Amino acid sequence: MCGIFGYAGPRPALPVLMDGLRRLEYRGYDSAGVAVWDGETLAVRKSQGRLDALARAVADGPLPGHTGIGHTRWATHGAPSGPNAHPQTDASGRFALVHNGIIDNAAQLRAELEREGVAFRSQTDTEAVVQLMAKLWRGDLVACMLETVRRLQGSYALVAMSAFAPGEICCIRRDSPLVVGLGEGERFVASDIPALLPVTRRVTVLRDGEPALLTAEGCRFFDADGRPVERGAEQIAWQRQSAEKGPYPHFMRKEISEQPSALRAALSAYTKDGALRGEALGLSPREARRIRRVVLVGCGSACHAAMAGRHGLERLCRLPVAVEIASEMRHRDLPLDERDLCVCISQSGETADTLAALRLARGRCRTLGVVNAVGSTLAREADSVLYTHAGPEIAVATTKGYTTQVLVLTLLALGLAGMRAGEADAQERAALLAGMARLPAQMEALTEGGEAVRRMAHACAGRTSLFYMGRGVDYAQALEASLKMKEIAYLHSEAYAAGELKHGTIALVEPGTQVIALATQPALLAKMAANIHEVRSRGARVLALAARSLSEGLRGEADEIWTIPDTEPLLTPLLGIVPMQLLAYETALARGCDVDKPRNLAKSVTVE
Ligand code: GLU
Repeated sequence: MCGIFGYAGPRPALPVLMDGLRRLEYRGYDSAGVAVWDGETLAVRKSQGRLDALARAVADGPLPGHTGIGHTRWATHGAPSGPNAHPQTDASGRFALVHNGIIDNAAQLRAELEREGVAFRSQTDTEAVVQLMAKLWRGDLVACMLETVRRLQGSYALVAMSAFAPGEICCIRRDSPLVVGLGEGERFVASDIPALLPVTRRVTVLRDGEPALLTAEGCRFFDADGRPVERGAEQIAWQRQSAEKGPYPHFMRKEISEQPSALRAALSAYTKDGALRGEALGLSPREARRIRRVVLVGCGSACHAAMAGRHGLERLCRLPVAVEIASEMRHRDLPLDERDLCVCISQSGETADTLAALRLARGRCRTLGVVNAVGSTLAREADSVLYTHAGPEIAVATTKGYTTQVLVLTLLALGLAGMRAGEADAQERAALLAGMARLPAQMEALTEGGEAVRRMAHACAGRTSLFYMGRGVDYAQALEASLKMKEIAYLHSEAYAAGELKHGTIALVEPGTQVIALATQPALLAKMAANIHEVRSRGARVLALAARSLSEGLRGEADEIWTIPDTEPLLTPLLGIVPMQLLAYETALARGCDVDKPRNLAKSVTVE
């Protein structure tokens, strides 16, 4: 999950690398390092901890040179220490390598090399790769890289330099992201597109197994056998500012505020003049009618988006829906056939487990990606893709990535329903579309937060545990709200389907326990009121989040009621989650947590 950045061009490389790594630090912050070719030697500097530590280290002895590579690490093999930081070098110091991913057969490779007398200095899987490169060197960096990766099992984005190939940077990937940026007279490589935006909008996403060679003179692409090939570049439309913090204290706060415009962008991609653009869904009416079941797959928040999205598919399309955790599905023997539609959801489009689930489904049923990152692996490998149009999401805890996923899944439900059914339920679909068009404006006011949120956050900050509960789509909201609290405020919390609480977990409720009850569904209001009553009569304090027109029904039941504007019941997860995101954010601040870089987490989970 680390961040990789490389540069070849006329500028001094070090400041370019440091700037690039800053934009990638959200992907890992266990250690950081750079290697720069100064015309004679390959100078390497590494530091344990955050990038600031590396910045201090290079301030003392700057590295001259115009070609270099850098890395911020999220450790998988070996402690987050200095020796385990990347770039990893071979025994002679003539090869330097940065790596994102996991080499599954690193232990065998290491044992083999050690038997041949190679001395290892780190515990990383990466070192085995760079030592192997040194062993296989025959005078050509691309050929050496190809020869090396033939011996590797696992996932990797690898970027290497060698003192034997001055001024060259060789890049290759398998199942981990890597993007080449083509500037005016200069070349870059990075783990994601947002990191490149301040320097270039022209990018080429590398294909699995196909290397690229960057030099100050140009960039050459090769196929998996090392034959030169032409690869076009994409022009990225994202604004540079969208990957910068601007006036906000944190990316997460900025991204919470960006949700209305993200929803607008998604709506304008899939609707026109208030009607759905059928063709934008990537399925023909014939294909839509053949579907007998939908399997929604994701990890973390994407799985919660699936749980929220299932309700629209069930209700509007009358289709059975299975929601699958990708890391579970890929190891199960899930029966799939050509009448299933498998929808794989991932903000980055690089989530390792979701990609594995996609590959399992591909060829057995129709696959569809719901993805934010343009050109990502999931977007390319699924039969078709629905982009979520959230724009770059930098904070580790997803906000706009999640809400746009829920929106796109609901649009998918609408589109499928339209293609499958006659006019019978056209009215309900029209009401839903009209409700969607109102959402961004309704959401604006919610993103402001306010005193009530801060007060509650301070109350939550002093607790050791919280409970969330809800029914139907509110259960999905509860799971997502609870995950936010865990991720960024490090506060233990449990999310329960409200009816389940009394089957065990209510034993944990005692006087003073804080429960957050989500009650946005008119049809379930009476049941929620009863559940709130149950926990309150055991001493819990209850904050209820209700649709405005339902709040009267909870008066006297909850200690405090927050309201969201009335909307279609299927759309409430899009509004209700906003105050919950803000509650987690303010609680994290009150507890002094690093909101954008929560401990142990990294943004795009490219390892299994
Ligand atoms: N497996 C490598 C390590 O532990 C790379 C991890 C990463 O992707 O940051 O050093």
